[in-house]
Amino acid sequence: QTEQQLFVERHPRSFELYQRAQNSLLAGVPMHWMTRWPGGFPIFVAEARGATFRDVDGLQYIDLCLGDTGAMTGHSPQAALPGITQQLEKGITTMLPSENAFWVAEELQRRFGLKYWQFALSATDANRFSLRLARAITGRPRVLVFHGCYHGTVDEAYAWLVDGKPASRPGNIGPQVDPTLTTKVVEWNDLAALEEALRPGDVAAVLAEPVMTNVGIVQPLPGYHEALRELTRRYGTLLIIDETHTLSAGPGGYTKAHGLEPDILTVGKPLGSGIPSAAYGFTEEVGQKAHSVIQPPYADTGGIGGTLAANALSLAAMRATLEHVLTEAAYRRMMALGEQLEAEVQDVIKKYSLPWHVTRVGCRVEYLFRPNPARNGSEALAGQDPDLDPFIHLFMLNRGILLTPFHNMTLISPETTPEQVRRHTEVFEEAVRALLG
Ligand code: PLP
Repeated sequence: QTEQQLFVERHPRSFELYQRAQNSLLAGVPMHWMTRWPGGFPIFVAEARGATFRDVDGLQYIDLCLGDTGAMTGHSPQAALPGITQQLEKGITTMLPSENAFWVAEELQRRFGLKYWQFALSATDANRFSLRLARAITGRPRVLVFHGCYHGTVDEAYAWLVDGKPASRPGNIGPQVDPTLTTKVVEWNDLAALEEALRPGDVAAVLAEPVMTNVGIVQPLPGYHEALRELTRRYGTLLIIDETHTLSAGPGGYTKAHGLEPDILTVGKPLGSGIPSAAYGFTEEVGQKAHSVIQPPYADTGGIGGTLAANALSLAAMRATLEHVLTEAAYRRMMALGEQLEAEVQDVIKKYSLPWHVTRVGCRVEYLFRPNPARNGSEALAGQDPDLDPFIHLFMLNRGILLTPFHNMTLISPETTPEQVRRHTEVFEEAVRALLG
């Protein structure tokens, strides 16, 4: 209650704007997830730079949400700005390729080890297009995802287990197509269930994050990725790895860091420093099959791609980001800060003997309010605390620290400093003391 009052007192201008917005924006926000912040109304941002932002009430924040990964580069990263602003003067979209396309594709080849690349405007689109290609190539009807996953609002991937059966994810307001026609859902880390689902030979592709991140971090058990790869190969199913959040694991994502061998890889969010950009890449074999499905020139094949996909601005932004922002050197700094944050939070958990734990994927660190890591989506969902999460988030927000609201996620950008990490943990410890009374 006091934290709620404090929040309202600190944000008169945001509250005024939010009220005014009720007249023109659905639910008072330009995108409905923006209602999902603790405090009852969203903070309106005046200016975001590096790993910080200032709100319209003049308050300053350390941003560890970073646009839910969209700004993992830091906000408006200085090193990317020349490439982006120069392109603004040279044409933004033409539906013809620009030379930056080679540079970006070759760099993605180098980073992820996949030969052919295509571009999209969001990770959602990259996933949707990849699933369509997988179906076209294999001639199979179904896809498989893991309980608790999120890959964007792609109908057939927006499915979880409900009473043990694949079903449209609870809360889906979209068309309720019978998901058993399109989708199989199994628990992460359950190889027997995976094999049983693949055995009939009707699954075009498995779509997986290499570490689940959208119900809290759920790591793969030792040997799981090797078995996932072996089983998908054995049953002729393509393996699509979604690196959108796990780009935190290194310049080539979790795939390169752990030697995974996906058939298709998708990645979006920070790829263009926040300018809408995403990419999907394939092995040579998949690329050749895809080529025969698409059959240029002038083929009347559709269902993937988009008018603004691979526009010149997005390609320039991806080049600037890969060349100057998400560099090897930047990752080394980000990893070190990720380790610092993990160790600091671990110390607080130990100091107060809390039944919590902390887990990390490179520069993404998450604290979970349960003693042991979850092994699958069901365990992760069962371990979520409906009161604790909002309390910690609001407490920290009131003291100038922004966490990602959907998970207790903290993310490090190339512009995050050791002092900001330290400040985060001081406030986290204050929150713990407030909780313990
Ligand atoms: N893939 C993963 C793993 C995600 O977490 C998300 C969004 O959170 C997406 C895809 C979709 O990204 P976007 O909303 O930018 O399309």
